[in-house]
Amino acid sequence: MKFGGTSVGDQDCIGRVVEILKHYYTAGNELCVVVSAMSGVTDQLHAIAAEVEGARDEPPIDVFIVSMRARHGKVLQAVAPGEYDIVMRIINERLENLRNILTAVDNLRELTPRSRDYIISFGERLSALIVSAALREAGIPSRALNGCEAGIRTNDRHGCAEVLPESSSHIRSRVVPLLGESVPVIMGYMGCTADGIVTTLGRSGSDYSAAIVGAAIDADEIWIWTDVDGVMTADPRIIEDARVLSDVSYREAMELSFFGAKVLHPRSIEPAMQKGILVRVKNTFNPGAPGSCVVDKSAPDHRVVKAITYIDKVSLINITGAQMIGRPGVARAIFSALGEYEVNIMMISQGSSEANISLIVDDEHLAAALAALNEVLKKGYIQEVGHDRNVVAVAVVGVGMAGSPGIAGQIFTALGREGINLMMISQGSSEVNISFVVKQADGQRAVRVLHEEFGLAEES
Ligand code: ADP
Ligand code: ASP
Ligand code: MG
Repeated sequence: MKFGGTSVGDQDCIGRVVEILKHYYTAGNELCVVVSAMSGVTDQLHAIAAEVEGARDEPPIDVFIVSMRARHGKVLQAVAPGEYDIVMRIINERLENLRNILTAVDNLRELTPRSRDYIISFGERLSALIVSAALREAGIPSRALNGCEAGIRTNDRHGCAEVLPESSSHIRSRVVPLLGESVPVIMGYMGCTADGIVTTLGRSGSDYSAAIVGAAIDADEIWIWTDVDGVMTADPRIIEDARVLSDVSYREAMELSFFGAKVLHPRSIEPAMQKGILVRVKNTFNPGAPGSCVVDKSAPDHRVVKAITYIDKVSLINITGAQMIGRPGVARAIFSALGEYEVNIMMISQGSSEANISLIVDDEHLAAALAALNEVLKKGYIQEVGHDRNVVAVAVVGVGMAGSPGIAGQIFTALGREGINLMMISQGSSEVNISFVVKQADGQRAVRVLHEEFGLAEES
C-alpha cells in the first residue's frame, strides 16, 4: 500500500492511515507500506536547493531547517507521543545532514544532480519515520527503511532514475522476511546506485517505488491510496462532474498517466502488468469507496472513449525545410540528435508533404531539444526550427477506440464546432489514444467539450 503526500500531510491524515492499516493488518493481511513526503515538502526541498545555489547573500538555511523540524516534530508528537524522544533524535540527525549538504551547496555555489537528489529525498526520509512510529504506537510492529535499504537499485540518471532488474532479488531478500511479523514502511521516491549513491525516481515517483516493491515481493495487489476516489474520466480539478472508473486496463492507465493523469506515475503500471498484479486506486479520505482497479482487461463497456487527459507543461517544436522532401536520413539526423541530448519526445507528427515535422516535448527538455536541432540545422538537413511554449497536449484514451471508426471524426467535429483550433494531431499506432495540441488558452475548454461529447459524466 502506497500513501501519497496528501494522505500523510498532517496528524489527522496519518491518523487515518494508521486506522486503514490497522484494519487490514488485524484482518490477517501481510502489508508492506510505501510513503511519500508530507504534502508540499518535496516542492520546498526543490525550492531551497535552487535558492541556496543561486543565493548572493546568506540563504535562509536555518529558517528552513527550523520550519521542517517544527512541522515534522508537531505531527510526530501527535501521532506517536510514546516514541517522540527516540524518533525526534533521528529526525534531528537527518535535519543536520540536510543542513550540512545545503551549506556545502551554498559554499560551492554548485548544485550537482547528485546533491540535488540527496536533498530532495529528505521528505520521504522524514515522513516514513513518523508513519512507522505511529504504527508502533498503535501496537503494530514496524520499521522504516530507506529506498536503498529496501533494495531499490537504480541507474545514475539523477532526477528520473530507472530501477534496475536486479532490484527484485534485493527487495525480496530485504522486505519479505519483515512481512507478517511487522509492517515495513519504505521511503518512496528514492533508490540508490550500485555504489550507494542516492537517486530519485522523478516527481510522483513513490507510485513507481510501490509498483517495483509490489512486483518484487509478488504482492497479491498494489494499492495506491490518494486524495480522490480512483482513476477518473478527467482531472476532477478541471471537470467537476468527472466520474470514477471502476476498472481500467493496464494500457489505458499507462496512456492516461503518460498524458498527464497525475493520479499514477507513468512507470508505475509496467511492473504490475508484467506480473499481472491488480493495482487498486483508493481514497484515504473515503476508504469505504470501492476505488478503481487497474487490470489486464477492463470489463466490456459500450463506451469507446474512457477518459480525457491534459498536460500543460509542454512545448511544440516545428521543424521545416523544403530539402526534407524525399531525402532519406533527415528523420534519423533529427531523432538521433534529440536522443543524444536526452530529449524525451512525447508526440511526433509528420505532414505527408514531408516538409514539416512537429514534436511535443516537456518544457524542461525544450532548451536541450533546441540545442540538438541547432546541430542538425548546421548540417543542412533542415531549414528552420520554431517553437511555442503556450500549448497544451490533450489525449483521448480508451482501448475500445482500436477499430472503432469515426471516433477521430467525432473528436475533431466537436472541437471545430467550439472554434478550437488544432495545432497538431497524433494517433499512437496502438489506437488506445488520440492526442492533439491546442493553444494553452483553449486547453481546459477542449477537455470539457470532449468530456461532454462522449457523455463521460454519465454512468454507463
Ligand atoms: P498523491 O499525493 O496521493 O500521489 P497526486 O496529487 O500525485 O496524489 O495525484 C492525485 C491527483 O491526481 C488528484 O487529486 C487529481 O487532481 C489528479 N488527477 C489528474 N487526472 C486525474 C484522473 N484522470 N483521475 C484521478 N485523478 C486525477
Ligand atoms: N514526494 C515526491 C514528489 O512530490 C514523490 C511522490 O510524492 O510520489 O514528487
Ligand atoms: Mg502522486
